[in-house]
Amino acid sequence: MRYVSTRGGLIGGQTSAPFSTVLLEGLASDGGLSMPEKYPQAELDAWRPLSYPALCLEIVSCFVDDIPREALKTIIDKTYTLEIFNSDEITPVRELEPGLSLLCVSNGPTLAFKDIALQLLGNLFEYVLAREERVINILGATSGDTGSSAEYAMRGKRGIKVFMLSPHKRMSAFQQAQMYALDDPNIFNLAIEGTFDCCQDIVKAVNSDAAFKAQYHLGAVNSINWSRVMAQIVYYFKGYFAATRKNGEPLDVAVPSGNFGNILAAHIAKHMGLPLRRLILATNENDVLDEFFKNGHYRPRSPEETHATSSPSMDISKASNFERYLFDCVGRDDAVMRDLWTQLAQHGGFDLAEPKHNAYWQRVQASGFVSGRSTHVDRLQTIRDVYHRYGVMIDPHTADGVKVGQEYRETGVPLLCIETALPAKFAATIEEALGQTPPRPAVYADLEQRSQHYTVLPADAEAVKTFMREQFV
Ligand SMILES: *Cc1c(COP(=O)(O)O)cnc(C)c1O
Repeated sequence: MRYVSTRGGLIGGQTSAPFSTVLLEGLASDGGLSMPEKYPQAELDAWRPLSYPALCLEIVSCFVDDIPREALKTIIDKTYTLEIFNSDEITPVRELEPGLSLLCVSNGPTLAFKDIALQLLGNLFEYVLAREERVINILGATSGDTGSSAEYAMRGKRGIKVFMLSPHKRMSAFQQAQMYALDDPNIFNLAIEGTFDCCQDIVKAVNSDAAFKAQYHLGAVNSINWSRVMAQIVYYFKGYFAATRKNGEPLDVAVPSGNFGNILAAHIAKHMGLPLRRLILATNENDVLDEFFKNGHYRPRSPEETHATSSPSMDISKASNFERYLFDCVGRDDAVMRDLWTQLAQHGGFDLAEPKHNAYWQRVQASGFVSGRSTHVDRLQTIRDVYHRYGVMIDPHTADGVKVGQEYRETGVPLLCIETALPAKFAATIEEALGQTPPRPAVYADLEQRSQHYTVLPADAEAVKTFMREQFV
């Protein structure tokens, strides 16, 4: 399998690159994102009975042909264990009532679904870096969950340093403590005086300095890293097999979305032949994506227009991985992508419902995506509703997905809602909704009391570069 850029540029100096290159390079030379040249086809009958690691090996093998299968197996087997994910099934399905279930993908070390991908990524990195006698410095941006998930996956790993930018004072107390409590010599927490989008812009700006990028061996783990999307494809298959009795039955999935990484994996699973019917995308008050799927207008917001909400991991103004989805919808024509992204840069948005884009808009509409939006009040109501009806406590992000999912629910088609975090991470909102504190896994009992390690920096790429340089003298 070779990978190409959504905008036609070079990846690691080549027009198409193998998996290992894509793993270690962040963006393509033109700012585009890497995509597999084609989608492999699933073997549903052979895959249905497999355990999580075995299923993962089959799926990952379709996308990775430059790591021997035996090595991949070792990496995957040590990643998806009962010890790390607190479940033999790794991503168990929990039925709320017939036809309505949760896919629980947040039982890993940092209690959010991002662990599924990042734990694998950490082990893939370590393997490839050792093989190529290289080091990598991961520069990432997080609105909360990615950062801690990446740090827990990379801590103590040889050849890897992590520089994680987070929006100063904009994460939940638990999220902040979870990241900043780490005291590993290869982990650097940088609290940026700005929003998550400022952090993301800094990552892009630093990466666009080619000399700096090369000298400091920059890599990425934020949601634009292809391997994260790849790892997430696996649980859509696992969830489908658990929520249906036989292959071919339709299934709807509801996914709380921010940067579009999670639901992009569902889109790819569908292209691989998984019988997903509707992909129900839920946003919070930051509804860029809901707007696009409703009327074709993609208009990223300014930092000032981006709301700080009670589902903070979805507080984004633009959805990085959306570019990958659109690449499919424009028939994988990189010239069209360049035009659209030029328009985005010059006019702040584009309208895919314009007559000249009709063919693309039709593909969007045929892709199974529908969308909706959820607010703070909806979130509280849904948390209460699910708790009182089913005795299950869900986190505010999951609640956004359940709320919108139920609006599209149809009798006869089961609905699988993705549980993207545990309620313990967002205690304040749970307390507001239910008047009680969510249970917390024992390992985190005294989290907020631990000393915190971070450096506050202005929202300025130069300040970040200076900080990084200082770590290598
Ligand atoms: C990251 C995150 C999301 C959004 O996922 P995307 O892949 O960015 O769409 C939703 N919920 C939680 C809890 C998250 O951590």
